[in-house]
Amino acid sequence: MKKTRRTFLGLLPLSLGTAGLLTRCTDEPAAATPPPVKKPVVISTWQHGQAANAAAWEVLNRGGNALDAVEAGVRVTEADPKVRTVGRGAYPDRNGIITLDASIMGPSGDCGSVAAVEGILHPISLARIVMERTPHVMIVGQGAQDLAVAEGMEVTDLSTEKSKQDYEKWKVENPGYLPPINVENHDTIGLLALDENGDLAGACTTSGAAYKFHGRVGDSPIIGAGLYVDNAVGAATATGWGEAVIRACGCFLVVEFMRQGHPPEDACRLACERVIEKNPDWRDIQVGFIALDKYGRTGAYCIQPGFDYALQDQDTPNTMHKPPSRI
Ligand code: ASP
Repeated sequence: MKKTRRTFLGLLPLSLGTAGLLTRCTDEPAAATPPPVKKPVVISTWQHGQAANAAAWEVLNRGGNALDAVEAGVRVTEADPKVRTVGRGAYPDRNGIITLDASIMGPSGDCGSVAAVEGILHPISLARIVMERTPHVMIVGQGAQDLAVAEGMEVTDLSTEKSKQDYEKWKVENPGYLPPINVENHDTIGLLALDENGDLAGACTTSGAAYKFHGRVGDSPIIGAGLYVDNAVGAATATGWGEAVIRACGCFLVVEFMRQGHPPEDACRLACERVIEKNPDWRDIQVGFIALDKYGRTGAYCIQPGFDYALQDQDTPNTMHKPPSRI
């Protein structure tokens, strides 16, 4: 049947809607001329990000590169026993053992990670060793600890009186011995930096979900899930329920949305939408992304309110910011 202009226009909303085009159009990036580049920039997850930013900024300020800056930044968090979700003094797994995950990625696209490693104070530096001194990307468990020792790192007890006490209390209160799936108890440090040279790097380090199964690995050491850097586009890192982030390949997705032209906050929001789509229990979990693009623009988005991030650049002192949330 030949369509008149009137019947064609009448059919248009239906056919566009059916094809999903109407909804997709709202997510189209605005065509834009490239913004001016703002550098250097550091951005990191949660309140403890402020101390990490300060250390990273110091490296950048004296002309250091983004890779050195992100490593130096998150080492501060790893060493701080007051931060209960990273490094020393962290919540252990359900067997009472602290196991750590970390990843690092630099401007060349090279990356390294370690997972389920025990007794190593700076897993981020071990991840960098994997990247720079082995032919591999990821080394886990005993193998990661063996590498650390071979590289001159010390094996130490990372527990504190507080982490031991909390574990004993948790065991009594949780006879089911199941890790809690909720919006708390998991505050990974993820830090992204853009240096004077215009190069990007990212680091992510965590003890993972509190009271997880022994041997559980979250998103943080998985390149593309908890961290991703593409020097031509931007960088992203994640925090929250790692299983949900892995299912959506979260940080790779954020960077791909930026590649399509979405500004960082928009890219984080779209990746959160994908996480929501892939995780029917999304109302009971937290996931947050932060992103930094090659122009030095930053953004973040999360499922639940409560997530915040620390940002420092030429115009912004090292301060906390609250991203928009889905709920
Ligand atoms: N994403 C981390 C994990 O699931 C936890 C966190 O961000 O705090 O291991």
